[in-house]
Amino acid sequence: MADKITMSADGVLHVSDNPIIPFIEGDGTGVDIWPAAKLVLDAAAKKYGKTIEWKEVLAGEKAFNETGNWLPDETITDFREYLIGIKGPLTTPIGGGFRSLNVALRQILDLYVCLRPVRWFQGVPSPVKRPEDVDMVIFRENTEDVYSGMEVEAGTEAAEKLRSFLHDNYGWDIREMSGIGIKPISKMGSERLIRASIEYALKHDRPSVTLVHKGNIMKYTEGAFMKYGYQLVKDEFSDVAVGWDDCGGNPEGKLLVKDAIADITLQQVLTRPKDFDVIATMNLNGDYLSDALAAQVGGIGIAPGANINYVTGHGIFEATHGTAPKYAGQDKVNPGSVLLSGVLMFEHLGWTDAANDIVRALEATIADKIVTYDFARLMDGATEVKCSEFASAIVDRL
Ligand code: NAP
Repeated sequence: MADKITMSADGVLHVSDNPIIPFIEGDGTGVDIWPAAKLVLDAAAKKYGKTIEWKEVLAGEKAFNETGNWLPDETITDFREYLIGIKGPLTTPIGGGFRSLNVALRQILDLYVCLRPVRWFQGVPSPVKRPEDVDMVIFRENTEDVYSGMEVEAGTEAAEKLRSFLHDNYGWDIREMSGIGIKPISKMGSERLIRASIEYALKHDRPSVTLVHKGNIMKYTEGAFMKYGYQLVKDEFSDVAVGWDDCGGNPEGKLLVKDAIADITLQQVLTRPKDFDVIATMNLNGDYLSDALAAQVGGIGIAPGANINYVTGHGIFEATHGTAPKYAGQDKVNPGSVLLSGVLMFEHLGWTDAANDIVRALEATIADKIVTYDFARLMDGATEVKCSEFASAIVDRL
């Protein structure tokens, strides 16, 4: 009988061979990529005697058409109850009361880590010479920064009130007709994100965590993030990790925690990718960095992602691209992003054998030059196949 994934007080997930996992099919190309990914995930799980009971939950256009609500309460209840879920891309409703459904899900469930592993898979076309050198895992803070939605529009009463307040209380003169946004970076928010990145690095035997920030300019937000990180290493991880400030770059067998300024990071991930391993950063930097890195290893068609709260155990694994509406229903696009998000989910659940099998089968398929349109246009001699055919080819190689 299928059962729920649970988490015990020590933070360990308990997953049976027959777990119930909620999924959101997704809008636009969701109808194409979700069934394709599911085919592969089910086949890989079956090899190891496991069967997932997929529970469809609604969000986005499908939810709106069926219930009149873009994000029904039952969807949130199910994600809360079953802990781990997966989703395809969602349309951002215009005038639907949400800035973005993805942001709403992250905020409601307080999914404070946006996890984006970036690695190259053998055979994937890449614009760089040595894509195999890119093997990084980005921990992007998901709940704070200029993305927290505290913005006022230029010329409105709210903006004028805030402008006067800042003038009267801080002596800050902001120009007339300025939109103003707030950038909160808290100690708690920074620490829990950096803690999760360090624990991940230790668990996965990674040599370093780099705190990426712009603290040279934004001292009390981005600079504070870096300071909280170095202090956390001293307070909680001194037996297993060491900050650059304490070891001058020689960690002597411990995990090295270092920092890098965001702008130079965007150069160095290109010029010397081997220097970067696990990266912990704030929301905006993390957004830019995730997509820039994804481009180095084959683009958003195959970039996986997850939003996780390591304290409550909640996690939603997701395709990182949008709904690509011009291709919707054509059985054309690459299912790699949602499939590899499923692989990430399997790893998170401890199903590493099945996860590794999918990666190997995906690489074998690409090595045989059987690919969807996005890769075919970048490869010589490729056989372009449909989204569903690509999934079947992966299953054949499992
Ligand atoms: P998009 O849907 O990501 O599409 C942009 C381009 O990326 C596509 O035209 C296509 O490039 C490529 N692409 C996307 N998915 C692909 C796939 N599976 N395989 C291969 N290539 C793929 O971005 P958008 O057009 O800006 O956004 C459309 C809608 O999605 C909006 O409503 C937006 O708000 C929403 N969105 C949702 C999410 C999410 O749910 N996580 C994320 C971003 C955007 P080519 O044209 O070059 O083939």
